[in-house]
Amino acid sequence: MAYAYDTENIFAKILRGEIPCNKVMETEHSLAFQDIRPQAPQHVLVIPKGPYVTFDHFGLEASDAEKADFVTLIGKVCAELGVQPGEGGAGYRAISNAGEDGVQEVPHLHVHILAGRMLGRMVQSAD
Ligand code: 5GP
Repeated sequence: MAYAYDTENIFAKILRGEIPCNKVMETEHSLAFQDIRPQAPQHVLVIPKGPYVTFDHFGLEASDAEKADFVTLIGKVCAELGVQPGEGGAGYRAISNAGEDGVQEVPHLHVHILAGRMLGRMVQSAD
């Protein structure tokens, strides 16, 4: 089944300027802004401006220009936050939740950049 994009999701409203956000950076095809309920001292969301629901949707249907822009912005955000391990930063975690098992709240692709504390195990243990 093809993805159906909900144009009324909260990130679509942020992109249309109907809801404010605390912007970190913006490029032609992507936007980075502070998460409203930070889970770490640094918690930035990076989203494409196009109507993509999940990372797989984006990977399969976005243009090369959109993909390059999005991945580059993730790198720039990490640099801006000063968390790049290769530059002496303490590191970060990039997460993109998708669908029901991924516990995705907002149906517009977003990558969480979490940093500023020891983030623990990658996923919770099943038991
Ligand atoms: P998900 O669970 O879909 O991976 O994450 C959605 C994220 O969006 C959550 O971390 C949540 O705090 C954030 N969020 C939800 N609504 C808003 C909003 O209106 N503004 C901002 N900046 N973040 C939001």
